[in-house]
Amino acid sequence: MIKGQHDIVIIGGGLFGLYSASLLLEKGYNVGLVEMEQDYFKRASGINQARLHSGLHYPRSFDTAQKLIGNFERFATEFDAALHRSFDNYYCIPNEGSKTTVENFEQLGKRFGNLVVESNIPNYLNLDKTSNCFKITEYSLNLNELKNILLSRIESYSDRFTSYLGTDVKTIRKVGDEFRLELAEEELIASQVVNTTYSSVNLILNNLNDMLYRVKYELCELAVVITEKFKNVGVTYVDGPFFSLFPLGDSGVSTLSSVKYTPIHTSDTSVPEFPCQKFRSDCSSNSLQNCNTCSYRPDSQWLKMSDQASEYLNDWDGRYENSLFAVKIKLQHADEDDARPTLITSSLQNKGLHTILSGKISDIYEVKEFIDRSF
Ligand SMILES: Cc1cc2nc3c(=O)[nH]c(=O)nc-3n(C[C@H](O)[C@H](O)[C@H](O)COP(=O)(O)OP(=O)(O)OC[C@H]3O[C@@H](n4cnc5c(N)ncnc54)[C@H](O)[C@@H]3O)c2cc1C
Repeated sequence: MIKGQHDIVIIGGGLFGLYSASLLLEKGYNVGLVEMEQDYFKRASGINQARLHSGLHYPRSFDTAQKLIGNFERFATEFDAALHRSFDNYYCIPNEGSKTTVENFEQLGKRFGNLVVESNIPNYLNLDKTSNCFKITEYSLNLNELKNILLSRIESYSDRFTSYLGTDVKTIRKVGDEFRLELAEEELIASQVVNTTYSSVNLILNNLNDMLYRVKYELCELAVVITEKFKNVGVTYVDGPFFSLFPLGDSGVSTLSSVKYTPIHTSDTSVPEFPCQKFRSDCSSNSLQNCNTCSYRPDSQWLKMSDQASEYLNDWDGRYENSLFAVKIKLQHADEDDARPTLITSSLQNKGLHTILSGKISDIYEVKEFIDRSF
């Protein structure tokens, strides 16, 4: 078996893996990165709502909201080239069923000052269903561009960077002070490992008999829609089983998602278990495959999402283009306050193993702090 030796091996080629790689390379380390897909950003980092969050999406979790607003301008400045800025973005409180009142939302908006541009209800929103709306600055990300920015940073350290694409970490063991990672054709040896596998973090930890995060999983669908009327509009009804329409970068299409219908299957077990896994021997609680390219992915809930949107949007003209599927991971207690922290832990049992369980895209700055402190 061919052996590759690195100071640090990163498992996972999403945003958090590539960002970690760029920082560790900057610090002079020799880095190997293993990604089971044929390309980077094929899972959650390439398949998400693409929202650069202002924080106001999470009115019940002050910590999450505060962290997101804190990172908003920093991220927008650093990744300006990957941002789509020219659309109007509204957060609305429905008349019924929200866990947040207009007053609570307004208070949060005031605390975060400059983000609330105005409070009004544009005429394309159904007045009968809406208590109030707030126009709030948020941006949409061109996710491919974000990936390319990170890859170009990594490229300048190509003498110390090895990418193992299209091959997964099958097993990982600690032997003395080293980690041994078995891939399909190679064995990698490293003194430190960074686990950035998002919905698979517990699978890697399980392999090492390490402590698992208390999480749950959602197999999610985002419907990609074409709309002329709402092309340049983001609309999100908070805070409950409502919907959100948001431009997908500057692609000209939008994603439609719904707290009620976007999670098609949920799994409360420590490793993901979904009913569709029985159709594939390679997708199990040991190895999670890509739902977006899977023939056994669930049927689309687009019609239900569209019906829901049409209750709130006057003359809703959304046409279905296709669907994007990805598995989201949340902390078990996320339902209580809707918090979305990023958790970064260094194992006590397996010294040198670091796990980054990301919450939101702009949380990459927590990774920077961690790497500056620990490496
Ligand atoms: C439906 C949805 C909508 C979202 N919307 C937003 C949003 O609008 N704004 C926001 O800020 N955040 C959003 N998020 C969260 C955000 O997408 C994630 O926090 C972030 O993209 C995760 O990045 P990552 O690098 O940690 O994970 P990923 O991008 O999932 O990368 C992990 C990688 O690990 C690889 N991998 C797994 N196991 C192995 C193995 N054994 N060997 C090798 N490789 C392996 C996977 O193939 C994958 O590429 C959303 C998430 C989802 C699912």
